[in-house]
Amino acid sequence: MYTQRPAEFTYHRPTSLDEAIELLSSDGGTRPLAGGHSLLPMMKLRLAEPQAIVDIGRIPGLDGIDQDGDMLRIGALATHAAVASSEVVRERCGVLAATAEGIGDRQVRNRGTIGGSLAHADPGADYPTVITALGATVVAQGTGGEREIAADEFFTGVFTTALEQAELITAVRVPALGAGVGASYEKHRHPASGYAVAGVAAVVNVEGGKCKEARIAVGGVTGTPVRATDAEQALVDEAAIEAAAEKVPAALSGAIGDTYASGEYRVHLAQVLAKRAITAAIDAAA
Ligand SMILES: Cc1cc2nc3c(=O)[nH]c(=O)nc-3n(C[C@H](O)[C@H](O)[C@H](O)COP(=O)(O)OP(=O)(O)OC[C@H]3O[C@@H](n4cnc5c(N)ncnc54)[C@H](O)[C@@H]3O)c2cc1C
Repeated sequence: MYTQRPAEFTYHRPTSLDEAIELLSSDGGTRPLAGGHSLLPMMKLRLAEPQAIVDIGRIPGLDGIDQDGDMLRIGALATHAAVASSEVVRERCGVLAATAEGIGDRQVRNRGTIGGSLAHADPGADYPTVITALGATVVAQGTGGEREIAADEFFTGVFTTALEQAELITAVRVPALGAGVGASYEKHRHPASGYAVAGVAAVVNVEGGKCKEARIAVGGVTGTPVRATDAEQALVDEAAIEAAAEKVPAALSGAIGDTYASGEYRVHLAQVLAKRAITAAIDAAA
């Protein structure tokens, strides 16, 4: 039944990470709440009915954005607006700042967090595709301590990740892009929400006018972000953007279709967007 009211739940507001993890480990029906822009709509529609909520939004120290050597560490509670406006992200990983700037609308960007977006793992979300192309790692903490999960292994299915029940994302580590490295994310926005109907992120390393290394990830088309490895190899071997983009559809089996776009159309979009993303990434590397 469509009620627009969540089922009853207990609300906890821990003040430390340890306290939050303890609350989450005490009961399998407990879920963390960050910006609430994905979890609350699901609760109102009764697609999620957690018995208890652990509001991590006021835990200090989880929203920082810092450079740590050749990596950037972005706290899980950093909002999309904070990522978009961060000087260090804009300078050292501009593709992530631009991605954050293109998420939803102002309200979503001011409340939604990077940790919430990654944990939610919506197939149409933008960050998962971009952090996969960047080769980022997700930092998670649970009862067993801290671990780092490569983006390539983090997204395991539609709305499903490698996180365990009492594990919280505390940060994401993305590379600070050096000289000769360019990156771009191109998406076809859903006109109502802004989610990616299809989105492609490309990261290239160019040396002496040749592409030495490429990472291309496609989101919005299948259940999880997918690396288009044949396209990556074609870019390095053949140095041809068009030829590389033509290899993207082969990586996309099981494309999702809905009332807005068929699976076939999403695959077509991915090829078109790949060409744009690779071209922009190569330009940015110059
Ligand atoms: C109108 C609208 C438009 C949107 N448009 C876009 C768009 O264009 N692109 C896009 O990418 N997204 C879009 N979103 C989604 C938005 O980015 C959400 O903010 C994001 O998906 C979830 O972040 P949150 O902080 O609100 O998480 P919440 O809603 O609080 O939580 C989401 C899920 O993650 C879990 N969770 C939260 N934080 C953590 C953590 N640190 N560790 C472990 N689990 C955690 C929760 O338990 C829940 O399961 C849109 C949302 C709305 C409402």
